[in-house]
Amino acid sequence: MSVRRLLVIEDEPSVLVGVSDRLRSEGYAVDVAEDGEKGLEKALARRYDLIVLDVMLPGMDGFDVVRELRRRDVAAPVLMLTARTQVVDKVVALKLGADDYLTKPFDAMELVARVEALLRRAGGAASDGRDVARFGDVEADFRRARVTRAGEEVHLSAMELRLLRYLTAHPGEVLSRDRLLDEVWGYDSTSYSRTVDQHVASLRAKLEPVASHPRHIVTVHGMGYRFEG
Ligand code: CA
Repeated sequence: MSVRRLLVIEDEPSVLVGVSDRLRSEGYAVDVAEDGEKGLEKALARRYDLIVLDVMLPGMDGFDVVRELRRRDVAAPVLMLTARTQVVDKVVALKLGADDYLTKPFDAMELVARVEALLRRAGGAASDGRDVARFGDVEADFRRARVTRAGEEVHLSAMELRLLRYLTAHPGEVLSRDRLLDEVWGYDSTSYSRTVDQHVASLRAKLEPVASHPRHIVTVHGMGYRFEG
């Protein structure tokens, strides 16, 4: 397999050097950028397997960068580094299309584990489930990372796409939040249950005829979710 190429966007020199050195020592090819504008430019210029993105950047911040990346169809998984601990930042990060976040200060081992999990999910997604799912007026082509609704393209984050793929691969089954966290996110912690709910809410808003009365991604009270084709 070819070497995975990562982009690290971070303005603090010590963090930038620490993170990129550690990732290089794990065998990744690493490019760096010291601010949001340069980072965005690099991310648009070539394909990266994963982007590590700091929230607090001078000028264009991490939220602006991830929003712009998704708007321009860059599907690479994004791991955001948040310095602040407010839940709102994490929610905003995930809403804007980040796939995971890490709160500073973090352990280098934790960073590597998150990076590996995101890469595994991005790569592994191609091998589980069907390549194409259809329900209602939605068509999801997972191999091309392209989802349309009534023929109009709908933009999903890499994580939303993974979750949708897992749901559509298990129609009619009751899927607990823990199972979804394990299988889709790759780590198990009850404190992240809200992450599942946030992504389900976002999928419903994008794909359900009436998001408040979901027909396809159904809540099973006290248990989790069920996909109905
Ligand atoms: Ca920073």
